Amino acid sequence: MMIFGKHRGGSAAGDLGDGRALLYRGQRLTARISHQGSCRRVGVARRGSTLHIQAGPGHTEGDVEAALGRWYRKEARRLITDLVRVYTARAGATHKKIFIKDQKTRWGSCSRQGNLNFNFRLVMAPPDILEYIVAHEVCHLVHQNHSRDYWSLVASHYPRFREARKWLRSHGPALQGTFFLDTP
Ligand SMILES: [Zn+2]
Repeated sequence: MMIFGKHRGGSAAGDLGDGRALLYRGQRLTARISHQGSCRRVGVARRGSTLHIQAGPGHTEGDVEAALGRWYRKEARRLITDLVRVYTARAGATHKKIFIKDQKTRWGSCSRQGNLNFNFRLVMAPPDILEYIVAHEVCHLVHQNHSRDYWSLVASHYPRFREARKWLRSHGPALQGTFFLDTP
């Protein structure tokens, strides 16, 4: 946010993140900011490895962060809904609702009522990792615990679960925080 201090009057594209990198599905996207005279809300659209961000003259870095949050959540809902359909069909399980959240400490959870909760930041991770978490939570629709039976069910639906767990332990924390990466 540049409310105080170095604001130079009118937001230059660079101030809003032009040229900066973000993570999506384990890949780096480059942000391209374009200014639109009259847009009330910051627009976000991906084309290939470019994330096009359309901002109006009054928009701040905070508005861009909020718009990116909405975009990541929308992507998470789309990708997760498809995967839940696949994995519940395979496991012969049924679920109630899917909630997309920003949980600091967990990637997903399954309620006793059969609702599935997922952290939207999973869309920043490689596709395999998102798929593992969906498989993990869908298997909880069958076993509400981490018993041997539970893990053998996970292994039958997602054999490479150990690698995915290891990835999340070492890289998961880096997915928290602001959306733009610090390193160019
Ligand atoms: Zn679990």
